[in-house]
Amino acid sequence: MDLAKGIKSIEQFSLEGRRVLIRADFAVPLTPEGTIQDDSRIHAALPTIKYAMEQGAKVVLAAHLGKPKGKRVNDLSMLIVGERLQELLTRSLGREVEIFVPDECVGDGPRKLIMERLDGEVVLLENLQFHPEEEANDGLFAQRLAALGDVYVNDAFAACHHAYASLSAVPRLFVEKGAGLALMKELSVLSRLLSAQVDAPFVVAVGGERFADKVGFMTNLLGRGRTVLVGGGTAVTLLSAQGLGVGRSKVDAERIEAARNFLSRARLRQAEVLLPVDLVVAREVSDEATSETVPSDSVPEDALILDIGPKTALMFATALGQARTVFWNGPMGVFERPRFRSGTEAVAKAIARSSGLSVVGGVDTVAAVARLVLTPFFRHVSLGGPATLMALEGRELPGITALRETA
Ligand code: ADP
Ligand code: MG
Repeated sequence: MDLAKGIKSIEQFSLEGRRVLIRADFAVPLTPEGTIQDDSRIHAALPTIKYAMEQGAKVVLAAHLGKPKGKRVNDLSMLIVGERLQELLTRSLGREVEIFVPDECVGDGPRKLIMERLDGEVVLLENLQFHPEEEANDGLFAQRLAALGDVYVNDAFAACHHAYASLSAVPRLFVEKGAGLALMKELSVLSRLLSAQVDAPFVVAVGGERFADKVGFMTNLLGRGRTVLVGGGTAVTLLSAQGLGVGRSKVDAERIEAARNFLSRARLRQAEVLLPVDLVVAREVSDEATSETVPSDSVPEDALILDIGPKTALMFATALGQARTVFWNGPMGVFERPRFRSGTEAVAKAIARSSGLSVVGGVDTVAAVARLVLTPFFRHVSLGGPATLMALEGRELPGITALRETA
């Protein structure tokens, strides 16, 4: 499956002197004081922005920040992002760069500000979600936004599962539209994972909070000779579906049938599913609580399952060590607490050692890898959370579909 089929890259357009409307992903996490906690998303947008600048385009960036819910919220102004972007571009290009931020995202203000720009200069539109029409995918709002560009480029993979105006209705109004460099890379890596020719052995490692969030992509990636390793809360539902006691751990009761279906489909498709053989349990989620390791069939009734055990970690690491392709989503335990981090750490290290195509996705999983300082050892760190999983489920993403259709 080629997710990029029928999609042009920004490199296929002539950009000199033209206004390029780039939908970027600047939804950075903020601290309680309102400063940027992690600027990875701004970093990820730099290649496309620099490319457009170097081509002599008038660069118009459109994005949202936080959840202003259709109202102007001064603390969620794009000015915070503009400042950081200005710093990063200035450092990266070795010359003073100025980012112009109008106080609106549509209308005469931005239109004039863009008109006054020289080739290679950058305007960052104010928060798109100050307008309720953005999330409502409103046609009129889309027209006003589209009026600010001659060419449309989407580089916001992590937002592509949303049918927002800037991602869905706007590109449909352009003849020249395509994907930015980060989005292109994302589509090409995820396409490889979805391809029947992916290098074997292909090992999929899944953890995280809820089985319901994961069953879709786990099922879609099943296939002969593939191995699915399951830990975290996702394993709890599967263990319970096999009739094992899981103590006080949360079970997706409505999903027991889906869990059984998943296990029988795996058998049918000749894929191997490895579930934990031992678990770390405790009476409560705290660093002070006494924890113990128990076999998976002997979880005490009053206990919570909070990590995979050492035997399981070794079994998972061995499977990952033989893999030539790995996709990982979902921590193996409550990794936020050092006491329940070992399983996630073992899996992360095993993948980091592997020399094949290693891909990690998911907001919390990517954060776990960053906390372990292992990010550089992964071949690809997917920028999307839900968008990544949706693509791997084999579902259409509204923001991607809109790039294919002709205006
Ligand atoms: P991602 O954001 O990477 O897709 P999820 O949001 O699905 O991942 O899962 C991350 C969360 O799952 C973490 O906050 C972690 O504490 C939690 N988690 C992992 N294992 C367990 C478990 N056994 N019980 C409860 N929560 C768990
Ligand atoms: Mg999460």
